[in-house]
Amino acid sequence: MYISTRDNYSAVVASEAIKLGMVPAGGLFVPQRLPRLSLKDLQAMGEGTYQETARKILGLYLEDFSAEAIAACVNQAYGPNFDKQEITPLHQLTDRLYVLELWHGPTAAFKDLALQLMPLLFAQALKNLKVQQEIVILVATSGDTGKAALEGFKDVPGLKIICFYPYGGVSKVQERQMLTTGGNNTYVVGVKGNFDDCQNAVKAIFGDEAFRRVLAEKGMALSSANSINWGRLLPQIVYYVYTYAKLLAKGRIQPGEQVNFVVPTGNFGNILAAWYAGRMGVPVHKLICASNENKVLTDFFRTGRYEKNRPFKRTNSPSMDILISSNLERFLFEITGRRGDLIAQWMKELQEKGTFTVNVKVQEEMRQVLWAGWADEQETLATIKETFAEKGYLLDTHTAVGMKVYRQYQAETADQTVTVLDATASPFKFASSVWEAIRELKDAGKKEPGARASGENKEFEQEFDNEFDLLRKLSVSTGIPVHPALSELKRQPVRHKRVCATGEIKQEIEDILGI
Ligand SMILES: *Cc1c(COP(=O)(O)O)cnc(C)c1O
Repeated sequence: MYISTRDNYSAVVASEAIKLGMVPAGGLFVPQRLPRLSLKDLQAMGEGTYQETARKILGLYLEDFSAEAIAACVNQAYGPNFDKQEITPLHQLTDRLYVLELWHGPTAAFKDLALQLMPLLFAQALKNLKVQQEIVILVATSGDTGKAALEGFKDVPGLKIICFYPYGGVSKVQERQMLTTGGNNTYVVGVKGNFDDCQNAVKAIFGDEAFRRVLAEKGMALSSANSINWGRLLPQIVYYVYTYAKLLAKGRIQPGEQVNFVVPTGNFGNILAAWYAGRMGVPVHKLICASNENKVLTDFFRTGRYEKNRPFKRTNSPSMDILISSNLERFLFEITGRRGDLIAQWMKELQEKGTFTVNVKVQEEMRQVLWAGWADEQETLATIKETFAEKGYLLDTHTAVGMKVYRQYQAETADQTVTVLDATASPFKFASSVWEAIRELKDAGKKEPGARASGENKEFEQEFDNEFDLLRKLSVSTGIPVHPALSELKRQPVRHKRVCATGEIKQEIEDILGI
């Protein structure tokens, strides 16, 4: 069963928690009881496939799903849509440091690990609950989540997905990725505004009771694919367990030996999954939480004060540009010994004043398991350059933030524990920054891509061509093939052409749904 982090809802089965997404009265669903894995379980999993580990872990958490249903979801989610059979291959960088490549899925970022599976779990949850309604998933995206969600929900029966993105406010490659999505149930709308405008408009629609009633009369209901849904977090626990099991099976660590995980962090989802894996029995020494210049988490773990009131910065690791890390709520719930009353109070303060402070004891508890640091934009680029020059391994900007923070951690602690660094995106997904970082090492004479952001069609094509040329240039000069998710992009037809003003989002939804 799943309970609320704010003690404000009765326990529900997994299907219900996934269907609802979040607790209606505010708060997030967490498992009432955390299952345990023994060392023997981990050793056994080391001999098997990714899919076997996924089935085992999911089975422990989704008690109202049949084993057959789980197997069907897992096998469909992790198949030839990933370009490596291991799904999440491990690359050894030094004798103590491994890079966990989480970007071999269809959109070249780690969100595929969750979003290839979650829509299938969602559809199964609706079946388990005998829900007759058609579910309409609304997504506001600043880039990566949109494409990953569209790919995941594409052609899943009983569901439609409508994705809103800031028109002219995402990279041309990201835009083209979304606009070329196939499927009979996918819709993409460019909104003439910024990401906050999209997100606020979507939130307003979720809160629009009259609109919900109109939809209900038509047999439809709204939901979200946001990372606060337990169905998105759960698939991420799998690769931490699997990675430990594989290190063990290959003899790289001794049975019971602890490891560190370094996680480039935004919404605190991916690192929280690592914490759950630790709680289940994976021997974890430290979780290293890496932020970019939006270092609200680093400050929080160092001072105990969460302070959202600060300038928002656009960085070269945009998927971590976040000032409210939603999943932190789950971590605080567990760290405080499940004090739902405290969590409710802190979240109220965060909403009303943009800040809250935890006491010294809670800070100490957090420090036991977690170390936090951050890297600025120049450090990020310098880390990409150094790593490529020294190891011949190309990092994307997000992963480079993790690498830089790991170096700081080592300098400060001299810790020699075997460490796994999460690589959250393919370097080709953030080609212009990666190229900027390594161009001096390689082919320096060629011209840079053109300036960004415009609404004009001709300029759009020009910019896209420039970005696309850059992928090729990066590939030629590094000898690394372009990620398959990006290499075909130029040839694929644009299927989505909707553009609207911020105030027209609701009409756009009505038009799409035919109401
Ligand atoms: C979403 C994302 C992150 C941040 O992950 P969280 O789970 O939000 O902490 C990091 N890197 C990339 C490339 C991402 O797309």
